[in-house]
Amino acid sequence: MLPIAETNEMKRPHLRGRFAPSPSGRFHIGNIFASLIAALVADEMVLRIEDLDPDRSKQEHIDAIMRDLEWFGFEWTSAVVYQSAEDQQERYRHACEVLETQGLVYPCFCTRADLHSARAPHVGEEFIYQNTCKGISAEVRDERMSCERYALRLDVAAAPSPLCFADTFQGESCFDLVREAGDFIIKRSDGVFAYQLAVVVDDAASGIDSVVRGVDLLTSTPKQIYLQRLLGLPTPVYGHVPIFVDESGRKLSKRNKDASLSYLIDDLGLSAEAMLGGISRIALALSPSGKR
Ligand code: GLU
Repeated sequence: MLPIAETNEMKRPHLRGRFAPSPSGRFHIGNIFASLIAALVADEMVLRIEDLDPDRSKQEHIDAIMRDLEWFGFEWTSAVVYQSAEDQQERYRHACEVLETQGLVYPCFCTRADLHSARAPHVGEEFIYQNTCKGISAEVRDERMSCERYALRLDVAAAPSPLCFADTFQGESCFDLVREAGDFIIKRSDGVFAYQLAVVVDDAASGIDSVVRGVDLLTSTPKQIYLQRLLGLPTPVYGHVPIFVDESGRKLSKRNKDASLSYLIDDLGLSAEAMLGGISRIALALSPSGKR
């Protein structure tokens, strides 16, 4: 008979997770917290640099993110994936075509404010599109398409309502896409594929089974699950961890200096062990057994 530990190990699926940073600045301690949980949940990790937006992505940030992840001892098992790479772009184009063939994509000529929803959205900032361009006649639409810039939106009217999933940390989570998100952008008017579409295509292409990220992205998950269903792609297990906030309760950003790694490592000289230890204590306090 096999020892119990070995039997359990055999039953547990092998999980492939990912680090998916946007290279818009150096990491802060909250990014390391999410990375640590992601790496603990999965058996192997893929590093994907989310450099879709050429205006916000900088090589120096990519270098710093990789250096910091390595400095903390994180490892990834396969070649780094760059969203800007041509083979990735080809995958996004193909996915977009598949959705268009299903009659679920329409051009949106609205500008600026609408473009915000193409970025990774965060709780409390959700933009709900009012279907302004949905009812435009085919004739007017074709004419405008020939002379105006336009984004592409996904029609979510037929999405299951509610769309529910079991989140590892947040529990059963249900959303009504029509009411809580609206038709969302899959390609921006500047030609950049939107975060929601790219992430779904990338996670499937890399065989990702486990997505662990900040709870500020919880509302993106129903959109991504709906896209997976339309594209015939598998749905990973999702887990959204709490995010670190500043004294005023606002989520940490790469601008918060005293939580930045440049302050903690370069100025204070903290060790990786000390920081991971501190983060682990926070994680333990959050876990059900840690609340005893
Ligand atoms: N690139 C996103 C970020 O840095 C994370 C996207 C994701 O995990 O799906 O906030």
